[in-house]
Amino acid sequence: MTSDFEKRLREESLSPVIRRYFSESLFPDHMPTKRLLKFQKEALREAVTRAYDKSPFYRHKMTEAGVKPRDIKNLNDLFKMPFTTKAELRQDPWALLTCDKKEVSMVHVSTGTTGGQPIYTMQTWKEYYLNTSINYPRLQPIEQVDLCFIALPYEMSAAGLDFHTRFLAGHQAAVVAVGKGGAYSTPEKTIKLIRDLRPAILVTSPSYAITLAETAAAASLDLPGLCLKKIWLAGEGCSPAFRNRIQKIWGTPVNFNYGATECGIIGIECDAHNGYHIAQGHVLMEIVDPKTEQVLEPGQIGELVITCLLRFDTPLIRYRTQDLGCLDLQPCPCGVTLERFHLRGRLNDQIVLQGRSYSPVYLENFLMQLPEVGNWYEFVVKPDENQRLKIRTELAGGIKPTPELAEKLAAEMENAINVPCEFEIVSKLPRPSKKAVRVVYE
Ligand SMILES: [Zn+2]
Repeated sequence: MTSDFEKRLREESLSPVIRRYFSESLFPDHMPTKRLLKFQKEALREAVTRAYDKSPFYRHKMTEAGVKPRDIKNLNDLFKMPFTTKAELRQDPWALLTCDKKEVSMVHVSTGTTGGQPIYTMQTWKEYYLNTSINYPRLQPIEQVDLCFIALPYEMSAAGLDFHTRFLAGHQAAVVAVGKGGAYSTPEKTIKLIRDLRPAILVTSPSYAITLAETAAAASLDLPGLCLKKIWLAGEGCSPAFRNRIQKIWGTPVNFNYGATECGIIGIECDAHNGYHIAQGHVLMEIVDPKTEQVLEPGQIGELVITCLLRFDTPLIRYRTQDLGCLDLQPCPCGVTLERFHLRGRLNDQIVLQGRSYSPVYLENFLMQLPEVGNWYEFVVKPDENQRLKIRTELAGGIKPTPELAEKLAAEMENAINVPCEFEIVSKLPRPSKKAVRVVYE
């Protein structure tokens, strides 16, 4: 694999910084920290210099902020650079380019969960090749023998293709592009393929893991009997308690993966299940106070700001993701020394109750520990009435709905989160065709 990569490095005349640091190994999770930080510093300087020299968009921003490439000498100079926002990316899709338009080989479209004009993400072939070839085998030990089912969207967004190519080109595994609920990829067909082909790895979203499990139950397919090696979840927030349910239903370990169409891979959860390791070969992460825009200390919750390290043709510098989280610099028991972070939901998704903000994932974690509650629920928010939390939910199989049960669940939930709760028990909630909607406004 390495020799093939080295050959391509020479042929493609990729950035010198990549050639210097990744000619022996493509694995940032094997790299000594000192070497990794040195790579990050050089990659950052190269990305900033290219951005200033070749992209009018970044040159203008940097001039306005009074910063020149020579001011970015070290990683801790990053804060001097201006932010890049979603609103800016929605304006001119070509503005970030530091290369000729003809070099662009792929365009992805953000799924637009926050609404508004879509964000188009351009990539050149070199960037795409780099981003999908450099991988993390200690965190994601996909083997050549593994048959991997990628049950994520392949249309528009980069989600499906990103895993597909990383597992195929990076890990030399076999992949099946099963997709997620597209015209040709119904849950029924996916379950048929799972039965016939017996994958080792499944990549999907938390809600679709449940949809597939319900379809498997209807088709009398014993999921634990499949002996899957691992399920990787991506694309939606997911609490530890909901993950536990998925692990139990599928009878297999489940880990999280975090990324975005605009930035690619950002974090990979290890088997310690205690936060994500940062994909430090691909990105730099800062946690910033969304209001004051100051960089926060480890442990403080703020907005995740991402700088891509393997993108020199379409640089993305200090991108404000609108996702919340905090850094955790404690060593991880798994032994991987890449830094870690915890996610705390989306900035615009927080539920305000009695003047306090709650992440739906935080609330879900308590809800999913109530055994009578089913796997489909909604938090119902009435903007003018934020004194209590209303939860509309299905019940677990075999549980009968009674007013007493609704009261008992409300009391248990209230006990956990310290806010009055109300349960509306329904027989069936609609299954999502896109990302699961956990918060509805009425
Ligand atoms: Zn770990």
